[in-house]
Amino acid sequence: MNIAETYLGEKVLEQGLRYILHEPEKKLPLILNWAEKIATDPNHKQNIKNLKKVLEDENSNWYKFAQKLLTKTHPKVKERLAVNFFINSSLIGVPKQKQVSKKIGASVPWAILIDPTEKCNLNCLGCWAGDYQKAKELDYETMDRVLSEAEELGIYFIVVSGGEPLVRKKDLIELAEKHKDQVFHIFTNGTLIDEKFVSEMGRLGNIVVALSIEGFEKTTDFRRGEGVFKKVLHAMELMRDSGMVYGFSATYARNNTEELASEEFIDLMIEKGATFGWFFTYIPIGKDVDMEMMATPEQRAYMFERIKHFRQTKPIFLVDFWNDGEASNGCIAGGRRYFHINAAGDVEPCAFVHYSTCNIKNVSLVEALKNPLFKAYQKRQPFDENLRRPCPIIDHPEKLLEMVKESGAESTQLHDDETIDEFAEKMKKYASSWGSIAEKIWYD
Ligand code: SF4
Repeated sequence: MNIAETYLGEKVLEQGLRYILHEPEKKLPLILNWAEKIATDPNHKQNIKNLKKVLEDENSNWYKFAQKLLTKTHPKVKERLAVNFFINSSLIGVPKQKQVSKKIGASVPWAILIDPTEKCNLNCLGCWAGDYQKAKELDYETMDRVLSEAEELGIYFIVVSGGEPLVRKKDLIELAEKHKDQVFHIFTNGTLIDEKFVSEMGRLGNIVVALSIEGFEKTTDFRRGEGVFKKVLHAMELMRDSGMVYGFSATYARNNTEELASEEFIDLMIEKGATFGWFFTYIPIGKDVDMEMMATPEQRAYMFERIKHFRQTKPIFLVDFWNDGEASNGCIAGGRRYFHINAAGDVEPCAFVHYSTCNIKNVSLVEALKNPLFKAYQKRQPFDENLRRPCPIIDHPEKLLEMVKESGAESTQLHDDETIDEFAEKMKKYASSWGSIAEKIWYD
């Protein structure tokens, strides 16, 4: 029996964590020995072993990262995140997802991405959220039901996006309080974060935010509007000074890849207190979007190299959503490890794939996971043995076309002005040029 899965086991683990989190800097080796012993998944065990090795060097960036996280974090946040992330989401969640998955005959993901609203207080250039009707919102009761059903399936990691999710601050705080065992990872433009919200984050402990930023002031304000960069930095300082765990979220496009990949930008994020950073690449969805905004295949390769370098030198955890396929054995969408519910309730394989066969308002979460578009995804994943080409949207658009047709999925875009055939055709050239570079990077 997996001790973490029993009620008693769960309580023992929680107590153990509380003990360790008191003076954690002295107990770091103990934390890791303990984690290695109770991990049941062989991959988790190996990861912890690797981490132990890296943390032996007190001068390493990862040692500094761990020390900062353990000593500077607000006690409530530290405790809640340790329990929700390590015990609930990993030790309890992962085996439970596997168990349920066998029972229901469909993959149970590790995370759900949900959009409470399509409303936004900004109007950013090229925003994918702009594809939906501005007025769309998910009602509180539907979100509450989805979160309860998710927990029953072993899903404890809830990602929240939009629109701007913090226009629904009150509802999000209520949901995080009610579903206190889940982690709420909110992607926000950062302009609505104030002292009151930061104090709620400290009271609850289970909210982690990622703030959107495009680079330095000129670049950020060009895309997001004048004054936004200063507001984002102010929100970062508020959270840093209160011991919150937060990160940044950056979209690299043709105009800002080098800036985001610069030493100066990463150092600024670390100085402002960011613990992690997400990198996404710009996806040209829609007929009228400017293809020239997309980062070139060469820029994508440059980002790959730069992140590799930062991982060895900087005390910050960086994720490159398109170039890290190796860590997740390819695409995670379509319910394999994650999926998306948009503000209208449409169940989509990924935030960037605006096609659906069902709406969460009419089906249970289990029924949603069995939908034909997810099945089409799962039977093809990974989409390429070269995990540097993981994505059916930008790396294998012909496969996205196949899956949409096979499943009979319908477009969820407001202005349905671009057919899936047109989109696949438009992405062909990029996919093939990236393919040549990716082959080289993968086999080198
Ligand atoms: S569909 Fe593409 S963007 Fe979405 S998870 Fe898969 S690889 Fe990533």
